[in-house]
Order: sequence, then C-alpha cells, then structure tokens
Amino acid sequence: MTGTVRVRFAPSPTGPLHIGGVRTALYNYLFARKHKGTLILRIEDTDRSRLVEGAEQYIMEALEWCGILIDEGVREGGNYGPYRQSERKEIYGKYAAELLESGWAYMAFDTPEELGILRKAHEEGGSVFMYNAQTRDRLKNSLTLPADEVSRLTAEEIPYVIRFKMPAGEDIEMQDMIRGKVLVNSGTLDDKILYKSDGMPTYHLANVVDDHLMEITHIIRGEEWLPSLPLHVMLYRAFGWDLPSFAHLPLLLKPTGKGKLSKRDGDKMGFPVFPLFWPYGETARGYREEGYFPEAFVNMLALLGWNPGTDKELFSMDELISEFSIERVGRSGARFDPEKARWFNHQYMQIKPVEDIAREYAKMVEEKGYSIKPEDAARLVEMVRGRVDFISGLWYQTNFFFEAPQFYDEAAVKKRWKEDSPVQMKELKAVLEGISSFISSDIEERVKSWIRERDYGTGAVMNAFRLLIVGELRGPHLFDIIDFIGKEETLERIDRGLEVLG
Ligand code: GLU
Repeated sequence: MTGTVRVRFAPSPTGPLHIGGVRTALYNYLFARKHKGTLILRIEDTDRSRLVEGAEQYIMEALEWCGILIDEGVREGGNYGPYRQSERKEIYGKYAAELLESGWAYMAFDTPEELGILRKAHEEGGSVFMYNAQTRDRLKNSLTLPADEVSRLTAEEIPYVIRFKMPAGEDIEMQDMIRGKVLVNSGTLDDKILYKSDGMPTYHLANVVDDHLMEITHIIRGEEWLPSLPLHVMLYRAFGWDLPSFAHLPLLLKPTGKGKLSKRDGDKMGFPVFPLFWPYGETARGYREEGYFPEAFVNMLALLGWNPGTDKELFSMDELISEFSIERVGRSGARFDPEKARWFNHQYMQIKPVEDIAREYAKMVEEKGYSIKPEDAARLVEMVRGRVDFISGLWYQTNFFFEAPQFYDEAAVKKRWKEDSPVQMKELKAVLEGISSFISSDIEERVKSWIRERDYGTGAVMNAFRLLIVGELRGPHLFDIIDFIGKEETLERIDRGLEVLG
C-alpha cells in the first residue's frame, strides 16, 4: 500500500451502537493499524430528527471498552475537524452550491404533498414513482421553471431541496475491495436529495464531502450502504475528485432463519446485540454488563465476516492487526452464534492472566462478606476457572470454601448416604485428626491407604465425604477443598453433617 492510509468510522448517534457497527469500527481499526494509518471517528448527526441523547457518548465508550483507539475525532481533535457534521454546515452549503453551478444538481420546489399525490397515483397504477430523468421534466424544479420564477420563489423563501441530477441510462462501474466489480445502470436510480429545505445536507452529500475533505483513502462500511455507492461515485465524478477505495462488509445475520441480526432476536433468544447496556428509554442489554471480556467480544466479532485462512480461532488485538486483511473478508452474510460468543468468553477465562481474574473474584468474595488474600483468590480461580464461562460463575463454584453446608441436597443424600456411611465417616474423621501436615496430596495419600486397608469402596467413601463438606455432589477435587478450608473446619463439617444425617 502506498500513501498514508486514512479510514473513518462514521456512525449516526441515533441510539445504541449495534454490534454490527462495532464490527465495522473494528475492521477499520485493524486496517488502519495494519497499514500504520489513521482512524477517524466522525459523528454523522445531520438528521436532527433522529438524534438521540446519550448516543454519541455511548459510541465512544463502547469503542474504548473494545480497545478500538481513535486517532482523530471529536474528543481527540486533529487537523481535519470539526468531526461532528452538525458543526460543518457551511461547508456543505458551499459544495451544494458548486453542484448547482456546474449543472450536476438542481433546486426542486415540489411540496411533500404534491410528491405524495404522485406516489399514490403511481402505486395505484402498479408502478413506483421516481424523481429522475424520466419525470423531472414534468416537475417543479429549476430545470423546468423559467429563471425569473426560480428567483421569485427563492426571494420569497419558498422551501426547496437540492437534488442530484442523475444521468439517464448510464452504466456506472464501481470497484469494491470485497465484491470486485459492481455494475449499476443509472436508469434504476433516482435524483437523490442532497440538501434539505432546513438547510442541512443529507447523509449522501455530507458523507462524500467529508470523506474527500478528510482525505479518506479507504471507505470500509456495512453492506447496507452498497446501494448508495453509485450515487457516491457519481458525486465524486461531479466534483472532479479522485475516488477512494470501497469495501462493503457482509451483513450480520440472525442465529437462525433469514435476515439481519436485530435486537428482537437478542430479546427472543436471550443475548445482547449491543456492546454496553443502554440505559435510556427502552433499555437494552450489553455484552460488558453480561460479564464478557472485551478481548473475547472483539475476538468473536473479528471472525464474523473475516477468516484467517487457518483453524486458529483465538486472536489478541495485536495478532488481529498483523493478520487482518480485507481480501479475507467474505461476501456472504456472517451468521451470529450466541453460543460461540460464550465459547470465546470461556476460552479467555482460561487464558487471561490469573491475577486479573483473581482481582475481580476477590471483590466478589468481599461483597459476600468474606475476606481473601490475593494468593488465595488466585489459587481458587486456578482450581475452578475451567468450569465457568464468566467471572460471575466463580462464586457458585467456590461458595463452599467459605460457607459450611446450609442444607444437604436431598437427592444426593438419598443416593449417596448409605447405611454404613456414618461409621465410615467417623473412622475417616479419626484418620484426618491424625494428619499433621494438612496438605491436599498428603491427605489424599493417607485417606486412600485407609480406604484400601479397610477395603471400602472409594466412590462410596468419597461421595459421602463430599456431601458432608459441600452439602452437594459438586465442586473441585475434594482434597483441595479441605486443604483450603483447613483441618479444624473440615472436622467441624464432618461432625455437623453426622449430626444432621445420622
Ligand atoms: N452515518 C452512516 C451510518 O450510520 C455512515 C455510513 C458510511 O460509513 O458511509 O452508518
């Protein structure tokens, strides 16, 4: 790649950022870092009616949580600002005027009501109304009205929009880095509004003007913008600007069935479709709050659309940066799999530094009202992390290290507390009392040799013993548990259990 790569993520702050949007941001970030380029965050807020309070802040917080670092933007600053489109109004006005001047655009005075009537009439006749080369000659615009009439209307401040004059019947050829050559005939396109009567540009004009002025070299965005590509390419031509490269990312699909992944799928199947909890209005669940590690979340997203060409599935951000390439992004939609998301978290639960998990775990233990030393927290985490997907699951796997059984699981008692269990447990207690170095491996050796001497069944003894210590038939290696809780507590739990179970 020659020249300096400049890419942008350009969300509209209309609500919480969907995970599809996070993936777009991620791919832009990976591409920028890989090519030692620059990632710009541009807030596309020209559609004032769709603005949502808190959305801009949410976008930034979500990217930060993911470790997607922005080089230029509203907060970061940079030489190409302002980075919020609502602060760039005059710029767009100037470029709209330039297109009017060069004849690539025209003013249209048709009222929404007039257009509504036309749309309806077409519908009734079984066709779709398009404002384009076929119809514009018969409509109320600066191409059909005499010049003095146009001057009068503008002098009277009659509202008008500025539309792009899409050429008739021309094959527009485009290149997409993922899809290759894309061909569209301009006859299928309408004269899109570039500038609205409220003095704001539409997405199309603002987006193209900014990509040019911000010297964007590669436009990496979602597939839903592919239908806008012909207009954008024509706008570049109209302005006489060099085209950037385009890459349209495949859609994220529902876990089952057809169509785009939506919030409703998440609600139905019980998984979030947003990175963070959304606290406003209709709230929405977030991956962060559900206990996902950002590393796992990012890893999962990276593989939804891109593949490394090998079986490797676990990638750190640095590995993603060095291995990512647009050429390995697929064309067809990527199916979202909530089970796989959990799987990724489980993997990170195993590979993350134990101290990091232990720190969080210790907080949880303290909230339960117990204190724990960092090295003990680490020891317990090591012991049980293989059994959980989330940090929150660690308490259930370790509560019995802190609390003696409050009850004895009925089904387990029925199955495992045998007639000779009381006698065996009393003998076991005596064996344990005689052990001076109460360390897992030592205890195990002594207990096992006692079982052999007495010719007891190992399963029967160990299950009954576990019932007394844990209250249920679960938990890690029993000798590790009693090593941790200590001799005194172990003997007490045996006494207490014998009292209750007889
Ligand atoms: N503002 C558009 C969005 O919300 C940006 C599309 C683009 O990247 O061109 O997705």
